[in-house]
Amino acid sequence: MARRTTKAAKRSTRAAPRRAQAAKKSTRKASTKRSTARKPARRAAREPKSLHDLFHETLKDIYHAEKQILRALPKMAKAANSDELRAAFEKHRGETEGQVDRLEQVFQILGAPPKAKPCHAIMGLVEEGQEVMEEFGDSDALDAGLLAGAQAVEHYEISRYGTMIAWAQHLGLDDAVPLLEETLEQEKATDSALTELAEASVNSEGEEEDFEERRAA
Ligand code: FE
Ligand code: FE
Ligand code: FE
Repeated sequence: MARRTTKAAKRSTRAAPRRAQAAKKSTRKASTKRSTARKPARRAAREPKSLHDLFHETLKDIYHAEKQILRALPKMAKAANSDELRAAFEKHRGETEGQVDRLEQVFQILGAPPKAKPCHAIMGLVEEGQEVMEEFGDSDALDAGLLAGAQAVEHYEISRYGTMIAWAQHLGLDDAVPLLEETLEQEKATDSALTELAEASVNSEGEEEDFEERRAA
């Protein structure tokens, strides 16, 4: 019992300098707290961002996305094994040029210069597409991979344009609405065309399998 007391006493003497340090730390913490506490006041002095700002930022994002897609589509067309898939990518490349043009018109409506800001989502999807081309370049599954990647891109675009149309309507940017709607229709049509190609190729693969099975029997 006595020994335990001594140990505890020792512990407490050892802990003393640590406690002093901790106290110092907490003073330091308090001073950082004070400095961050000043920030909201500075922020409040700035004009809060609006839906109009958000629309403008999203426009920059999709502008960058379309430009990335414009560069990726020829590579995907070149890689595709099926003539129909290659034709679909080439067709959509042409449409994408028009989409970039329409986005520039939307910038004009805002009275802002056309400016891109990195769209990390499309950068990621393009990177995944490159991975598929590298890893499945000599595989029968390459077209299925390209199709899946392209549809992921179309779905991102459909989501973006759908949102931007709603915001443009809300903000009274009436001239921007039909421009964005025209592009949305193209993205939806591309998605449907890709779905048809995917279904057709899955079906024909099924037929091939049936044929192999019949031949083996
Ligand atoms: Fe597009
Ligand atoms: Fe984005
Ligand atoms: Fe598209």
